[in-house]
Amino acid sequence: MSKVYDCIIIGAGPAGLAAGLYAGRSRLSTLIIEKAADGGQIAITDNIENYPGGIVEGETGPQLIERFTAQAERWGAERLAKNVSKVELEGPVKKVFCGDEVYEAKTIILATGAHARKGGFPGEEEYTGKGVSYCATCDANFFQDLVVFVIGGGDSAVEEAMYLTGFAREVHIVHRRDQLRAAESIQERAFRNEKLVFEWNSVVDHVEGDGVLQKIVLKDTKTGELRSFEADEDDGVLGCFVFIGTVPNSDLFKDEIHCDEKGYVITDDDMKTNIEGVFAAGDVRVKSLRQVVTAAADGAIAAIQCERYLAEQK
Ligand code: NAP
Repeated sequence: MSKVYDCIIIGAGPAGLAAGLYAGRSRLSTLIIEKAADGGQIAITDNIENYPGGIVEGETGPQLIERFTAQAERWGAERLAKNVSKVELEGPVKKVFCGDEVYEAKTIILATGAHARKGGFPGEEEYTGKGVSYCATCDANFFQDLVVFVIGGGDSAVEEAMYLTGFAREVHIVHRRDQLRAAESIQERAFRNEKLVFEWNSVVDHVEGDGVLQKIVLKDTKTGELRSFEADEDDGVLGCFVFIGTVPNSDLFKDEIHCDEKGYVITDDDMKTNIEGVFAAGDVRVKSLRQVVTAAADGAIAAIQCERYLAEQK
């Protein structure tokens, strides 16, 4: 007979790894399944300044996550590097399918996170990886001393734009309004950065090129006027980094689990979903603040609630 875990955690970002730590410490037999690198969006974040107690000079997102992973494993959480293809969440024993293989557990924590929203402008797909990017940490190096555009006005766009100024000679922030959404403290630093140029009330109309991205056409959201920016002949390429928010990774279970109109999982304060024994934690949840610290807190609460649920079933 196959093993029935006390808890299976789907996703190894800050929420899933914190859940793994707390579940392990509660002596629950725990399996964490992650298809990619640990850390989720933090794995592609260069600088984390606001995780309490986590300030280590020069530490990157991946380095912080390495410590999360080591701590979860230290308390006994098993790991599986596979893609979850299907789940069956009703009933006392829940099933998680990875292709032909089935893993069973009495409780499930959905910690699948979110991914970058696409800009949706013509040329975006064609030039992804050839100038268009969703990860400054991964691709900033390619734009050493070049001109790049960052789309969006939230925390991600403005922080990543500042990071890019360490590489590019000029970084244009393209925002659809005339006021940033980013936190005041982030804005203050951005407005002091001389390499940043703000393109207010603007969206990308389309991008063009010849093998690589060479032209970005912006549209004024108030007047409809178009403005073109072309790569210098010596540069040969422009960068276009898109940071316009996230989309929840909830397709896997949104037929069974109640989600809001955007696909974020609805839970109560104890991370409980509409199905008994199924909890959600981190960016995949409906919540007002998506941060490492809130994801980790969700994970801790979800794991402790799993323990309580299991105790009630005995
Ligand atoms: P966000 O806060 O949702 O901001 C998205 C930005 O993109 C907004 O400025 C929005 O414009 C713009 N936008 C959305 N759809 C657009 C479209 N179709 N075309 C053009 N612009 C569009 O997303 P985020 O910056 O990725 O942040 C996600 C979450 O992570 C937030 O909770 C954020 O606080 C958190 N985060 C925190 C930190 C930090 O604390 N250091 C760092 C990164 C992210 P409008 O402003 O007009 O809506």
